[in-house]
Amino acid sequence: MIVAKKFKWEAAHRLPWHIGKCKQLHGHSYKMIVEFEGEPNENGMIIDFNDIKNMLDPLVKQIDHATIISKNDIELKEIFEAKQWKYFLLPYDSTAENLCAFFLETIINENKQVLKENNISKVGIKIFETETAYAYSTKLVD
Ligand SMILES: [Zn+2]
Repeated sequence: MIVAKKFKWEAAHRLPWHIGKCKQLHGHSYKMIVEFEGEPNENGMIIDFNDIKNMLDPLVKQIDHATIISKNDIELKEIFEAKQWKYFLLPYDSTAENLCAFFLETIINENKQVLKENNISKVGIKIFETETAYAYSTKLVD
């Protein structure tokens, strides 16, 4: 069985190599659905929704109202550092696919204990860049 929780944030980003309009700095109202797969425990619960919130809130707080900058976008990073504007550094370009992979890795790596305690077998992430466009990936928990 799967339980899931939805998160939202506002952020700006750009894709410097993009031929179309995504080359320009612009914003999205991102939505993310995080799924946890496992068997309900004796209380009929896979994982406490509050535990999910505690897991994700720090990450969402870091990215909310920030500009997502790829570490390869040196020009933009220099401006944000000089101005001391809030930014969220990604190891690669800020496509929905890369954000999805990054959040999935981060959530699993930073919450091994909680995932183990709840016998979570798989985590899934959907990142919505717009109302109609999203990236989805899942990963087994070792
Ligand atoms: Zn965009």
